[in-house]
Amino acid sequence: MPYKDPEQARAYRAAYYEKNLKQIATKKRAYYENNRELVQEKARLYRINNLGAVRAYDRKRGVTEERRQLNTQRRLADPEKFNISVANSKAKKPEKYRDMVLQQTQKRRAKQKDAFVEDVILSILYERDSGACGICEKPVDRSLLYPAHLSSSIDHVLPISRGGEHSYANTQLAHLGCNISKGTR
Ligand SMILES: [Zn+2]
Repeated sequence: MPYKDPEQARAYRAAYYEKNLKQIATKKRAYYENNRELVQEKARLYRINNLGAVRAYDRKRGVTEERRQLNTQRRLADPEKFNISVANSKAKKPEKYRDMVLQQTQKRRAKQKDAFVEDVILSILYERDSGACGICEKPVDRSLLYPAHLSSSIDHVLPISRGGEHSYANTQLAHLGCNISKGTR
């Protein structure tokens, strides 16, 4: 560490982190892949030793204490039944979970290609692009679900395969079908 002053040291670390973001992320990912069990055990211990902070985070996400205890009881009492009920609640809000899965998939792919700049949230793209497909310019119906041709998708204007980035600047709302036919063109 080249600085003794904690403020300077902090600024140095922040600048280093900023400059080497992608390498650090790649290293972290590789460490996780190679030490999965150790990382998970550490996470479990962290939960136990920092219960206050974990609970505060749960509250921030809107998970109440009663809800949390109830979930734990239900999960322990009958794990299989609990998993089915989680699946059912996902089925009740398919759009919400579809968006989440889509965002996670795209994020993972962009990270694999080192193209990840920021999270791109479909609902924000939808607002920004006024609900219109960036490829055919016709409206996108948000109630349609994957893999419907006219369902919504995140299109990379310059494809990641050609060096495009996963960012708001390089994405637009598009019909899934338009997106796919663009990709195979
Ligand atoms: Zn379209």
